[in-house]
Amino acid sequence: MLKTDIQIAQESTMLHIRDVAGKIGLSEDDLDFYGKYKAKISLEVLKRNKDKEDAKLILVTAINPTPAGEGKSTVTVGLGQALNRIGKKTVIALREPSLGPVFGVKGGAAGGGYSQVVPMEDINLHFTGDMHAITTTNNLLAAAIDNHIHQGNALNLDIRRILFKRVMDMNDRSLRQVNVGLGGKPNGFPREDGFMITVASEVMAILCLATSLEDLKERMGEIMIGYNLQGEPVFAKDLKVQGAMALLMKDAIMPNLVQTLENTPAIIHGGPFANIAHGCNSILATQTALKLGDYVVTEAGFGADLGAEKFLDIKCRFGGLNPSAVVIVATVRALKHHGGVLKADLSTPNVDALKKGIVNLEKQIENIRKFNLEPVVAINRFMSDSVEELQFIEEFLNNIHVNVALTEVWEKGGEGGEALAHKVVEVAEKSGTYKPLYDVDKSIKEKIETIVKEIYGGSSVAYSAQAEKTIKEIEAMGLHKKPICMAKTQYSLSDNPKLLGAPKNFEVKVNEVKLSNGAGFIVCLTGDIMTMPGLPKVPAANLMDIDEEGNIVGLF
Ligand code: ADP
Repeated sequence: MLKTDIQIAQESTMLHIRDVAGKIGLSEDDLDFYGKYKAKISLEVLKRNKDKEDAKLILVTAINPTPAGEGKSTVTVGLGQALNRIGKKTVIALREPSLGPVFGVKGGAAGGGYSQVVPMEDINLHFTGDMHAITTTNNLLAAAIDNHIHQGNALNLDIRRILFKRVMDMNDRSLRQVNVGLGGKPNGFPREDGFMITVASEVMAILCLATSLEDLKERMGEIMIGYNLQGEPVFAKDLKVQGAMALLMKDAIMPNLVQTLENTPAIIHGGPFANIAHGCNSILATQTALKLGDYVVTEAGFGADLGAEKFLDIKCRFGGLNPSAVVIVATVRALKHHGGVLKADLSTPNVDALKKGIVNLEKQIENIRKFNLEPVVAINRFMSDSVEELQFIEEFLNNIHVNVALTEVWEKGGEGGEALAHKVVEVAEKSGTYKPLYDVDKSIKEKIETIVKEIYGGSSVAYSAQAEKTIKEIEAMGLHKKPICMAKTQYSLSDNPKLLGAPKNFEVKVNEVKLSNGAGFIVCLTGDIMTMPGLPKVPAANLMDIDEEGNIVGLF
């Protein structure tokens, strides 16, 4: 019988984290230990190595996935292990999982099979407490807002237009809309509020885009919390809490070091939602990793149309990063899904459906090249894939001169990713300078339309009255010279999850526009985007257990 991810993880032999750190030149003085297998890396490491040449940065992204996920994290970990095997000192940089999805449907975010980061139980649960710190920091600001109103509201905050919400790290739909301040005078002024999941918070996005503690503090202060009664914006710094917010984040800002099943160093830090935020690990984690190895492999959430675009237009811009290659993960099953095959039939060989569905991959390849980057396609092999299907994809890509490698890292660990590693090195060694898609100084609509037309393949954008109004307000405040953070379904290149393949001539509907002023981007929401998910009928939590000896089951 096949082993589960947690069985494989528990059978692995972990090195003491000090020895993993030693492989990349870090001493005990550079680390804050969280037990034997986890440590935080001091920000001094980055400062000390500021002038050192950066490693080659490789982004792992994917075609538009099926709901099961196509194996981006698994390939990221596997490629990191494989690069090490072929003699390239490699550090992996990943996002931290959120407890909501862990107990809901998605499962963990620590890779899978023989390409996982460990200790996976800890990484998937409380880890080093970063989520707690982010939750508390967010809720300090929320408490300060209601306290300010209660204490006389000197800023004249319009309690009907408070934008900033409370958060917690769990899927709990009953908290989406709440009334706070009920119970009379001692409890403040009643108003409508709501909760988001911690990873959707602007505080999380800020942690991931900050380049120092000072920068983090400044960005916290720039969070726009709402409007005053004159209709003017009010910021966190008006409540003078940015110092305390930064203080609460003093440990969370340090990147976390763990290892893979093959003892490759992995830095796991920050995990913003890939819809309302940009979906990548922290800039500090990536920058630190770039100083410690020859190669850094990192990942962006969702498909390339969302994840890679935001990585390249938001994260790389803010972090001054220059990626050297982009790996696009594709699976036979997802390509068949794009060719119209129903979920129940995805394991049945069907080359005709593949031929139809491969247009999705073709479009993502074309998109990556728009950033002056060369893609390498990783076919993440599943046991149900037939030889004919795998051959078809390889031949198709060879014919259009795209690098491709069959990847078996889930089944074989790093060994199964060596072919991919060689291709990646070949591309990375001759890479140039990447270029973002648009100029941030352009108008909000121009930027949105560039993304919709160039990346999604759409023909036009329709804005709700609400979105039109907010765009005008942001531009009138002069706060529009920021990148766009698109929030869209990950299942289609369009904003309609049912439009598979590579749709054309569609209109994208923008329902809402939101300024994340501290994070430094403008969120553009299409469709229904959930910032507080709910649990499914049978949550993953129902399968989990721990016994008296501490043996854990059900954590995937
Ligand atoms: P993503 O990062 O794209 O969401 P993950 O890497 O988290 O995807 O993988 C999703 C799930 O699929 C995980 O449970 C993982 O173990 C499993 N998986 C990934 N690749 C394979 C594969 N080649 N064969 C079987 N299962 C796989």
